[in-house]
Amino acid sequence: MQRRHLLKSIIGAAALPWAARATPAELALGAAFKKRSERCRPGSAGWPTPEAWEGLNRRTQGRLTIPKSPFAVCATAPDSQASREALAGLKNPFYLGDNVALTQTSGWAGAWSSQPSAYAVAAQSAADVVAAVNFARKHSLRLVVKGGGHSYQGNSCSADSLLLWTRRMNKVELHEGFVADGCQGREPPQPAVSLGAGAMWIDAYDAVTTGAGRYVQGGGCTSVGVAGLITGGGFGSFSKRFGTAAAGLLEAEIVTADGKRRIVNACRHPDLFWALKGGGGSTFGVITRLTLRTRELPETFGAVFGAIRASSDAAYRQLIARALIFYESALFNPQWGEQMVFRTDNTLRISMLFSGMTRDQALAVWAPFLDWVRADAAYTFTSELAAISGPARHFWDAKILKSRLAGSIVSDERPGAPDHHFLWAGDQGQVGWTIRAYKSLWLPAELLTQGRSAALADAVFACTRRWEMAFHFNKGLAGAPAAEIEAARSTSMNPAVLNAFALAIIGADAAPSFAGLPDAQPDLEAARDAATQVEKAMDELQRLAPFGGSYVSEADFFERNWQRSFWGENYAELERIKKKYDPDGLFFAHHGVGSESWSADGFTRIA
Ligand SMILES: Cc1cc2nc3c(=O)[nH]c(=O)nc-3n(C[C@H](O)[C@H](O)[C@H](O)COP(=O)(O)OP(=O)(O)OC[C@H]3O[C@@H](n4cnc5c(N)ncnc54)[C@H](O)[C@@H]3O)c2cc1C
Repeated sequence: MQRRHLLKSIIGAAALPWAARATPAELALGAAFKKRSERCRPGSAGWPTPEAWEGLNRRTQGRLTIPKSPFAVCATAPDSQASREALAGLKNPFYLGDNVALTQTSGWAGAWSSQPSAYAVAAQSAADVVAAVNFARKHSLRLVVKGGGHSYQGNSCSADSLLLWTRRMNKVELHEGFVADGCQGREPPQPAVSLGAGAMWIDAYDAVTTGAGRYVQGGGCTSVGVAGLITGGGFGSFSKRFGTAAAGLLEAEIVTADGKRRIVNACRHPDLFWALKGGGGSTFGVITRLTLRTRELPETFGAVFGAIRASSDAAYRQLIARALIFYESALFNPQWGEQMVFRTDNTLRISMLFSGMTRDQALAVWAPFLDWVRADAAYTFTSELAAISGPARHFWDAKILKSRLAGSIVSDERPGAPDHHFLWAGDQGQVGWTIRAYKSLWLPAELLTQGRSAALADAVFACTRRWEMAFHFNKGLAGAPAAEIEAARSTSMNPAVLNAFALAIIGADAAPSFAGLPDAQPDLEAARDAATQVEKAMDELQRLAPFGGSYVSEADFFERNWQRSFWGENYAELERIKKKYDPDGLFFAHHGVGSESWSADGFTRIA
């Protein structure tokens, strides 16, 4: 309707019967215009007929479905068994991920809400993906791709779309001496792992680390999908030692907008290969398989955690300054990753992970800082600082964790669920959450130097007067081995990551808001208030790092200058590659490369 009004106002009422009087040539021209400018929705002219859908269903071996949210029944029949079952799964990321109609984030207040597609292909092979891509292109459909479903930006769901769901393409295959196709003689064989695009990182860790005693760089959250993480760049707890996940990519199989299945690597389609390594999801095609290098596993992985509270604002400001100096002098190296959280109640929460040290060695590193804290009555440990360390091989070993550290994980307890599927307990709050506000900023390493660190401490303190803020040290590569920084330089991520000591993250969230749930309508006023505070808090840091850049996978939906923020000087080349492989914009993502040409919902071409 809206489009009709728009046309009416542009060409005038008299021209409206034009289509009825048009010649066949004009009709063809009109159809072509429509194809380019507006994607089809159910009920609109051009929407595939039932026979056409049935054809797609046949070509994909019966894998076409109509997604229905299991939470819908919570509104219509709240006392039913189906409603109880759905609610029982609400905080289980594997339950959410196994449902074609759901996403891991239920929405962003004032931005988007999770909505099932009109149809979905639950792909099990690259041939299914080819069929769905060709169908979407032929019928001008809005095509959505979903793997793990964790997108903050709502990029793996859209009403009225055709969804390509890769969840069942989750095969994991280990290689002793992998050479990318076409790279024989140019690259030495190396240990690697191939992952179906629908695999989650826990599937990779279970096979590579628990099973084979090696390491693969992936994400921190176990339920995140492998393809979504790699296309954003991707950090795990040990990225300060092993670099970004994208930098470890050796080869990908991808179906591009023309329906062609391509093998891309350093030797075949190197431009597309580079773009996939951080250029954003659902932009250049549908990845069906990824092959990543694996590494030697360190002997140990461990953690140091605790919380220190300051008795006054002045003491807190001093604690922040001291913690930053301590970080720079003792932890700013490949062995340490994860977070320091600066809370609004004058508490510093420490949640750091390390590799290659025993518990005692790790505590010895922390001793000077702890001595300083203990010597001052202004500080109390609200949670005593503790350390643990163990064989790295057991870090993702569900059986060992269940028996020795049961409180640290939440297992998927559904009957028939794979034994190795668990979530870190600390990530539980993000399952199904609604985002109210979220911002990230890379902070250059020079802010840790003597001349700048007092200003940084002031900014962190000022930030906490507004909102809680966390430094994710593992999400900035300064301090990483030179080889890992070089490897990340050959990805399409914002080069700001290379020189950042941390990614600062500030976020606000609320309960899940899937349609059908009691909290289905997010509290917009509370969300607006939170967003204002989060923005002001981040402004304090932004002043010190005006060109810091933001991590595309953990970023503000409303990011200004997003092209520069997410990709820096790499954006122009990414745009060129987008036009080469997807000239008609079949693939769309909010604030994705080339999305300037489309309306916010990805249905209408505007340029
Ligand atoms: C709880 C939680 C924890 C997180 N933890 C981390 C972390 O530790 N480290 C980190 O770096 N990031 C983290 N993230 C961010 C995460 O990396 C991104 O959200 C990532 O894009 C998720 O991938 P996915 O496959 O799970 O999500 P999806 O929503 O399925 O996909 C994300 C994007 O990639 C596209 N996509 C998915 N599959 C394909 C494919 N096969 N081919 C082409 N495009 C595809 C989608 O269309 C979408 O645009 C976290 C996010 C959440 C919600």
